[in-house]
Amino acid sequence: MQHLVLLASLVSLCSGSGDWCYPSQFTCEHHCNTPEMWSHTSTVCAGKFQSPVNVVTRKTLLDQRLTPFQFSNYQQTFRGTVKNNGHSVQVGVNHLATVMGGDLVTGYKAVQLHLHWGQNGGPGSEHTIDGEQYPMELHIVHMKQQYSDLSVALSDPSGVAVLGFFYEESRSTNRKYDSIVNALRSITHPNSNTSLPPISLEQLIPSRQNLTSYYRYQGSLTTPGCTESVIWTLFHSTIPLSKEQLQAFSDLRFHNGKPMGGNFRPPQPLNGRLVYHSGAASVLASAALLWAAAGLTLGLSRAN
Ligand SMILES: [Zn+2]
Repeated sequence: MQHLVLLASLVSLCSGSGDWCYPSQFTCEHHCNTPEMWSHTSTVCAGKFQSPVNVVTRKTLLDQRLTPFQFSNYQQTFRGTVKNNGHSVQVGVNHLATVMGGDLVTGYKAVQLHLHWGQNGGPGSEHTIDGEQYPMELHIVHMKQQYSDLSVALSDPSGVAVLGFFYEESRSTNRKYDSIVNALRSITHPNSNTSLPPISLEQLIPSRQNLTSYYRYQGSLTTPGCTESVIWTLFHSTIPLSKEQLQAFSDLRFHNGKPMGGNFRPPQPLNGRLVYHSGAASVLASAALLWAAAGLTLGLSRAN
């Protein structure tokens, strides 16, 4: 009997209830719910339309409505605040930057951006492409223009649009990320924040002409409450960061003092959902081919 009581108390100690966390935060001294237990924090996390997912590219479907986006005020600089929120680094977007097109039903305005990364520069993206995990993933969170509060937007099944970007390790330093990377050492402790020098959203993402190829599916927030009201866009084109820049994110600390990293949720089942891909690149290529063929035919008929 005593053994049973001891066992029960050990189980409750090591897997017991608490706040949600990532496996990299878990210790027996620190009770927290790792991703497979998030449904204890919010039942929606056990839902059928969860994110992230693994994209199997040969199973994606071409959707001609996935046209290039129109970005507004992405080039405008703003003075944001960067914060260690205990599970990521987050930058509030305090000016009107919007995205339209790409089969979004209306304009969506940027609210905040944050990142997910690996431990000490290792694999750390949330979405994976054909099983490949990238070192880091950027989420620019947008909500329908009509809303002024993210929590209200989340009650609309298409209220939120997240633009996801993958990072790739590069040999050279990406100077466009200097201000964010340099700010990290000032926000090592959870709930600390600091103001950034003026930055634009545009400087953080690939150039506009490289944003026409992307994947689209319907999913959720990747942290509790896991609300299923997110239209996901994942861009093919990656953002380069050096090893040192990627590793700098591990300067941040979780609440228990451990280096922040591995703050990604593993891929969730698609449960019958389809992932679509944009057709801009292939449509342009086939149009060019058509014109070339037409030109050739004309040329030939003239020669006759
Ligand atoms: Zn995220």
